[in-house]
Amino acid sequence: MPRILDVHDLGNPSAIAEAARCLRSGAVVAFPTETVYGLGADTFNPLAIDKVYDLKGRPTDNPLIAHVLDEAQAMRLVAHWDDRCRTLAKSFWPGPLTIVLKKSPDVPSEATAGRGTIAVRAPKHPVARALIESFGSPVSAPSANRSGHISPTRASHVAQDFASCDDLLILDGSSSEVGIESTVVDLTGEIPVVLRPGSITLEMLRELMGEIEQPTLRMQAGSPGTSLAHYAPTTRTELIDRAKMPDRLAELSEPALVLARDVTNVRPPHRAIGMPGIAEDYAKALYSALREADASGCIRIVIEKPDETDGLWAAILDRLRRATRDDEPD
Ligand code: AMP
Ligand code: MG
Repeated sequence: MPRILDVHDLGNPSAIAEAARCLRSGAVVAFPTETVYGLGADTFNPLAIDKVYDLKGRPTDNPLIAHVLDEAQAMRLVAHWDDRCRTLAKSFWPGPLTIVLKKSPDVPSEATAGRGTIAVRAPKHPVARALIESFGSPVSAPSANRSGHISPTRASHVAQDFASCDDLLILDGSSSEVGIESTVVDLTGEIPVVLRPGSITLEMLRELMGEIEQPTLRMQAGSPGTSLAHYAPTTRTELIDRAKMPDRLAELSEPALVLARDVTNVRPPHRAIGMPGIAEDYAKALYSALREADASGCIRIVIEKPDETDGLWAAILDRLRRATRDDEPD
């Protein structure tokens, strides 16, 4: 089993120092961020980055997000830092917004999966910040799950996915506040493009930046890490409109685990996990619920599709579609 160190409320500075030493020695460390837990390595150490890909089983063409303390550290990684970057960073950093820019030649190509661009984000979680500060340099980190599986929002989720990795250090800083991965905005072109929706919503970005493009799921399928089958349970999972739920559940003879905001229709042999009605709470609960459902031994997971489509619900729907490999309407 990996080693888990409790760092709740930053009450264990020696654990943060130990994790920073691990990063310095070229090892990989799992740590909490406000979005999901990350599997971090020194951005400037190609061998350490390789370990992240090996551990996760991540396709080598899927680039990592470099986690920085602030704008000054971000500027070490990118070719240009312009007014648009300053505006976004002033409004949303530290926080769940990732910016994709042309990379600096100083950044090893391993850290960007060979791309000429790099994704940078300043996380808000105090443990993530303390770790980057103690390490003194950017930390590249994808989500701390086996590739393609559900992202972890608790230290125990990371420990489950990497149960056989005895030398992995996990910092336990309680459950992630946001619960879904960061919004990714590509600023390499004239018009910003949202590559991945998140809790910094399209509406919030439009208010600040004006015109913004958001490709559909299918259009994104060719771009790294955004394939349709992602963030997925291993159990067969489907997304059903609320109005169709009673009929669908009646038709299923084998026991299903149902994720729904209204669980009154769910009767044996099916079981329910109640989901919150408020988007922020739903996002925070989603991955834990999916993991719980996946571990329950049920034959099928049925998710009631939220009716809402705007704001944070757009990001939630994006993750539900990926978890169920469900395509969006044209
Ligand atoms: P993860 O940390 O596992 O949530 O994955 C990070 C995601 O950020 C990737 O799957 C990409 O979608 C996105 N990303 C990271 N670097 C880049 C980049 N250079 N260009 C475009 N997207 C990127
Ligand atoms: Mg991921």
